Amino acid sequence: MKRYKPLFEKDENINLQQEYEKWNKILFKNELPNISIVWDNSKVSGGQLIVRGIPNNPQTFQIIKMQISKFMDRTYEQFSSILIHEMCHVWVIEQRLPVFDGEHGDIFQDIRKDVNQKLKRLKLNIQVENTEDITGQKVSSNIKNKEFLVVLIFDKEENKYGIMTYSPKVQKEIIKKYKDVFDDSDYEISFVVSDNRELLKYPIKQKFNTERFKIDKTFFDELKKEKEIK
Ligand SMILES: [Zn+2]
Repeated sequence: MKRYKPLFEKDENINLQQEYEKWNKILFKNELPNISIVWDNSKVSGGQLIVRGIPNNPQTFQIIKMQISKFMDRTYEQFSSILIHEMCHVWVIEQRLPVFDGEHGDIFQDIRKDVNQKLKRLKLNIQVENTEDITGQKVSSNIKNKEFLVVLIFDKEENKYGIMTYSPKVQKEIIKKYKDVFDDSDYEISFVVSDNRELLKYPIKQKFNTERFKIDKTFFDELKKEKEIK
């Protein structure tokens, strides 16, 4: 795997507006409007467009701003891929087509492919995806550590590993709830408190939730070594 320099340790060196203008020229024939672009710390999306208007009525659709997340320690290539993905959305909105092309519809796919071809011709190591794959990405060192109550859920029947993450504040009621609900089930449940940085990628829940996030055995075993709560 290729090693990259961490990008956001010196994110003041990245000028979002300049990057937008650069790709607008190279990839979109300068057809995109000037919009405001800001950093945020979203864990769920690397980039998002804040819009106002009536969905399915492109005439009234208005872009408020674009937000690019620095939650993950992304490389310049990964950052560019997110930025250009959002720019494809801007392009679609600006077409003012009679039917608005929802999230990632046909019109979006056409411009995405077109842009990817141009990037390939330029021999840049950047491709625009529909959704970002964050496997292997690290949470940026700008994000502060946090403690989580982690519910470790082992599915004995399927041999699968999962977790749910909660605020340690609700520890007592959450543990009681799990003991009530999962008593005598095919799941093996245990509880730890941990500040493992990998956990920062997960939401911190305040209320009991029967869902779980799939994780691999290595991460599961690592968490299992933390201080157990009974
Ligand atoms: Zn998108």
